Amino acid sequence: MNTQVPVTKMNNTSTTRALIDLNALQHNQKVLQAYAPNSQILAVVKANAYGHGMVEIAQHLSGIYALGVARLNEALMLRDAGITTPIVLLEGFFHADDIPTLVTQNLQTVIHSQQQLNAIISSDLKAPLKIWLKLDTGMHRLGFHSEQFDQAYHLLKNTENVSKPINLMTHFNCADELDNPITATQYKMFASHVKTNSGLNSVANSAAVLAWPETHADIIRPGIALYGVSPFDNKPATDFNLKAVMTLKSQLISVRSHQAGESVGYGASWTAESNTTLGVVAVGYGDGYPRMAPEGTPVLVNGRLVPIVGRVSMDMLTVDLGPHHHDQVGDDVTLWGEGLPATDVANHIGTIAYELVTKLTSRVALQYVQ
Ligand SMILES: *Cc1c(COP(=O)(O)O)cnc(C)c1O
Repeated sequence: MNTQVPVTKMNNTSTTRALIDLNALQHNQKVLQAYAPNSQILAVVKANAYGHGMVEIAQHLSGIYALGVARLNEALMLRDAGITTPIVLLEGFFHADDIPTLVTQNLQTVIHSQQQLNAIISSDLKAPLKIWLKLDTGMHRLGFHSEQFDQAYHLLKNTENVSKPINLMTHFNCADELDNPITATQYKMFASHVKTNSGLNSVANSAAVLAWPETHADIIRPGIALYGVSPFDNKPATDFNLKAVMTLKSQLISVRSHQAGESVGYGASWTAESNTTLGVVAVGYGDGYPRMAPEGTPVLVNGRLVPIVGRVSMDMLTVDLGPHHHDQVGDDVTLWGEGLPATDVANHIGTIAYELVTKLTSRVALQYVQ
């Protein structure tokens, strides 16, 4: 028997938890819609909705065109949870055997390769598939090369296994670089491949929704911005009126005096220069807080930012509370989210906020607040 308590059902006395603010999610959806008033939203919920809980997030997005996932099993989890919204497989199917499931589960698929194209054409399907033909405009990861695109389009147009009109899409690689003109060039390349009778067009990820209005097209595909995190490492989410959906919280489990010359943690990597007080926080890499976080990475304690000192361990990290503090065992600590943007933490660590929010482990209870 499986006796594991689903993370979403855990009680709210967990010391280390990620608060998921569903009002902020709905606020962000409205903000993004206002940026692209003539487009519909394909809400990207892959990777457990960037760590926010895929099913709950999907249940709290209404009026969207579709949900976007990266794997068939993610789509099937949504269907198992009773979600009937259209779903797009952003990388398409990986095995020809899965094509009939796409039809029965009402899943749309991106077609980015000759193998996928051949598999669709040679399938024996009960109903035609809704597809998104992908052009490679410069990411060079997935998508048909410019010279092969038109032929792929015509082959797909001539098979009864594909529903018409055929939708077209591409994906930018540099849309988060505000002064890089490549995004505009890539959009022009995409626009030049749109056919007279083709269907919907979809191009813009979060960065393009916020920074490249000319690329909005019919369907925008925001992920990170829906979760209230800036896709730009040098522009905070508040510049766009986005609100953090996830706030990762823990507590001080020890507050201890610490003498000048004493070290802390594994490897004794940090030594105090003067007498101070250390706070021990119940969060570590076993929760998904990166071990790579260097000394000085900010943590929010009772309204002020304090630096991490010493190494992050599996279950704990230590912060320098300073000699004149009023912090107590049991006080709440924010690792990122409201009051401390995940982007700021990511910049200290040398990663992106996407990775921080997506990599929480199952030990962290997700608590939904409305
Ligand atoms: C993940 C993904 C997105 C969302 O990107 P964000 O930067 O999170 O907005 C959009 N389109 C495709 C194809 C993706 O794989």
